[in-house]
Amino acid sequence: MSILEIPVNSSSPVVPAGVLPYRSWQAALKDAVRDPVELCRLLDLPPRFVAGAVRAARDFPVFAPRGYIARMRPGDPNDPLLRQVLPLDDELAAVEGFGPDPVGDRAATLSPGLLHKYRSRVLMVTTGACAVHCRYCFRRHFPYAEGPRSPADWEDALRSIAGDSTVHEVILSGGDPLTLVDEHLAALVARLAEIGHVRRLRVHTRLPLMIPERVTDALVALLRSSRLTPIMVIHANHAQELDATSAAALARLSDAGIPLLNQTVLLRGVNDDVESLVDLSERLVDLRVMPYYLHQLDRVAGAAHFEVDPRRGEQLVAQLRSRLSGYAVPRYVLETAGEDHKRVLA
Ligand SMILES: *Cc1c(COP(=O)(O)O)cnc(C)c1O
Ligand code: SF4
Repeated sequence: MSILEIPVNSSSPVVPAGVLPYRSWQAALKDAVRDPVELCRLLDLPPRFVAGAVRAARDFPVFAPRGYIARMRPGDPNDPLLRQVLPLDDELAAVEGFGPDPVGDRAATLSPGLLHKYRSRVLMVTTGACAVHCRYCFRRHFPYAEGPRSPADWEDALRSIAGDSTVHEVILSGGDPLTLVDEHLAALVARLAEIGHVRRLRVHTRLPLMIPERVTDALVALLRSSRLTPIMVIHANHAQELDATSAAALARLSDAGIPLLNQTVLLRGVNDDVESLVDLSERLVDLRVMPYYLHQLDRVAGAAHFEVDPRRGEQLVAQLRSRLSGYAVPRYVLETAGEDHKRVLA
């Protein structure tokens, strides 16, 4: 039985031993697909996709966990999950207005790996590693090599945070902070908790969806046992991502009392239609995850083919508002350099 034949959407998934779930999240991470040719083969894509995938992967490599690939429809190049991870020749086109640093991250960098754009909260780039490479990622050109690679590299950032009593919330971002091993994560959380004016710890992560095995009892305990109030923001772009295994991971977090929010990027060919967005919001709310933001795409070089016209985005949000409970409609926002909050478009 191939990995793609696993009925992931049934309520009691039949999972062959040794394939899924993995013994550990590290094993799942290690086993992720990194070869564009293998990705095309697993998904049974027409041969014409292979050469483009190989070319576009040179710039920003493929990285997709097998458990995520198992939620895709084989033979469908337009599958909304596949589109997020499949390199296309479109990425290589230079498009006016799309550059390497679309949201002014460099200007907002206080010390290596620490961004301070908005009052009362700072964002820590804890690692360059992710559990998936999203083709639309606005940090695909981020100079991670200059950022932290080991806990020793966090010292400057910790000093900056300790020195600014207006900072009440620290956002762990990356990369993906949950690719850090528990030992490093616990050390970082402990250091942050020593800073009296820091009250909340916000974790932005795709791990509960990409590698649900990451949400272990130990991780939940780690987040719960800190003095800091934990908040987790997951990044789901499509309801099909929220299968039974990721739903179970989210339930473990929710049952432990950790508030869950979701942010989505509006992506052409993935979720730029009202039915996809309604299904996503309903599925999230059913799983006790509150829709937080719907992001207009950041104009990063290589992602132009994902862009949706903001007027179309505003229409979509208006339609959501007429279909869903008020709390199920995310705020449609645009990240702009030099403003004191994200701009709300609708
Ligand atoms: C988006 C972002 C935040 C968080 O903004 P919220 O509106 O509070 O979600 C904080 N810092 C940086 C640098 C950001 O890009
Ligand atoms: S998980 Fe986040 S940081 Fe990593 S590639 Fe995807 S969008 Fe970018």
